[in-house]
Amino acid sequence: MNSEMLHWGVLIVLFVWLIIAGRLFCGKVCPVGYAQDLIFKIPFFIKVKTFKIDKYIRLLKYLNVFINFLLLPVLALLGYIASENEEAGPPKIILIALAASMVFAVIIRRPFCKYICSVGTLSSLFNKFSFYKYKTLNEKCIQCEVCVKKCKMDIIPYTMKNSFECIRCGYCKKVCPKGAIITGFNTQKIEQ
Ligand code: SF4
Ligand code: SF4
Repeated sequence: MNSEMLHWGVLIVLFVWLIIAGRLFCGKVCPVGYAQDLIFKIPFFIKVKTFKIDKYIRLLKYLNVFINFLLLPVLALLGYIASENEEAGPPKIILIALAASMVFAVIIRRPFCKYICSVGTLSSLFNKFSFYKYKTLNEKCIQCEVCVKKCKMDIIPYTMKNSFECIRCGYCKKVCPKGAIITGFNTQKIEQ
């Protein structure tokens, strides 16, 4: 199999996975996400859930997607910049951002996922359309907000089901005392 076929094969498998599961990889498999979860467990005198400009900083990841998946490829195609050298590895700026995220992960849950990761951001676009879905059973939910306190992405799980921000870690479902959050593939029962 030549490298171009392999490249397309990987892309197709990835696309099918995203259609099936949405951002499930981020919450269940990604080692960078797992590392941040572990680092957040380190005791520290301050733990920040959210802050005033949090929602604006979260937009940075969309800028990152724009730069990496649109602007740079187009500039390379037009010959304004050198094509990416695959053997060179990730750009230095991403490595610096990753290292900084690991430091900030002591006080903020999953900063790399919230503010930077372009792969997670692209995957998140499938959360709304994937076969696998989250649903809140309103008749069971007592709005106790236990899930809100525990959410790894600091969103409101019982109202923001299938949000772009949700990494599908399943933690809200696990901690809900009423079993009000369910997940599954039955799209007739589990609707947006
Ligand atoms: S923990 Fe369960 S019952 Fe409480 S707000 Fe969240 S979904 Fe509703
Ligand atoms: S809403 Fe639930 S599944 Fe989504 S990130 Fe928060 S805790 Fe994880």
